[in-house]
Amino acid sequence: MSHTFAIQYDDIASAHQRIAQFVHATPVLTSSLADQQTGAHLYFKCENFQGSGAFKFRGACNALLQLTDSQKARGVVTFSSGNHAQAIAKAAHLFHIRAVIVMPNDAPAMKVAATKAYGGEVIFYDRYSENREAIGQRLADEQGLSLIPPYDHPHVMAGQGSSVKELIDEVGALDYLFVPLGGGGLLSGSAVAAKYLSPTCKVIGVEPEAGNDGQRSFQSGKIVHIETPKTIADGAQTQHLGQHTFPVIQTFVDDIVTVSDQQLVETMRFFASRMKIVVEPTGCLGAAYAMSGELNLKERKVGVLVSGGNIDLNKFSQLMLDA
Ligand SMILES: *Cc1c(COP(=O)(O)O)cnc(C)c1O
Repeated sequence: MSHTFAIQYDDIASAHQRIAQFVHATPVLTSSLADQQTGAHLYFKCENFQGSGAFKFRGACNALLQLTDSQKARGVVTFSSGNHAQAIAKAAHLFHIRAVIVMPNDAPAMKVAATKAYGGEVIFYDRYSENREAIGQRLADEQGLSLIPPYDHPHVMAGQGSSVKELIDEVGALDYLFVPLGGGGLLSGSAVAAKYLSPTCKVIGVEPEAGNDGQRSFQSGKIVHIETPKTIADGAQTQHLGQHTFPVIQTFVDDIVTVSDQQLVETMRFFASRMKIVVEPTGCLGAAYAMSGELNLKERKVGVLVSGGNIDLNKFSQLMLDA
């Protein structure tokens, strides 16, 4: 049965081995305040400390390392609202591969600058009117580049799953796992890893309220497409789940829930003031729900995937002042 899915646990285990020497084994942090508030034992897996500032470096390394020599020689192209772009640019630089990145013209300045600093060639598009997938495909066709999409690719999904493998290897079996959800690369990999290593763990995907296409897809059994949602969680402004990620999510994920932008800001504040860490809005999705009190987590052992920390300091200060 599992052969019908884009990835299985073995793919995650081999991804982890393949990328281990290039990625950070990120720290797992705890907070007595968060535990007090929820009555649970929360384990925050901090991918904001990952290379390039988000878990996406895992999937990028895993995908690039599996290209053939001739594919590596021609280069890669991708489209991304930011963190996947930075991850591909950094990994491509590391492996001496040319990288062309299609980015929205309203992407956070810091993400654009970082992508260029890693040597990525940036091409802009308008996220509200143009189709980034079509632009990426055209560049791939015209220039012989390999297209590495941000989530809907088995090698990307397997790489992303390596974070939860590390988490469970370190802290043991979990009762719950909360994971930020955009297009589902992270959630699908995380769910496969969690259900294999900790079969009774409930895996919950968390989306921004303004863009609950994943929740609607999960409930209806069909991939729901939406307009680009307006939310501060720029890493989760995806319009739909993927052909590869959706079946995995449907099978291995227990629920998909949402949080508001206001909850994300409060969670950023909590991370900064209490745990002394900078987490971007999208990175707060799982934590915001786990700490919301909506689900009774008393006495439960809970994994929270903190997915990234890339945010302009100006934007960060502005959000902290408004809260
Ligand atoms: C991309 C991203 C997500 C969403 O990941 P998907 O694989 O698209 O679901 C969550 N958090 C951060 C920080 C991201 O960069």
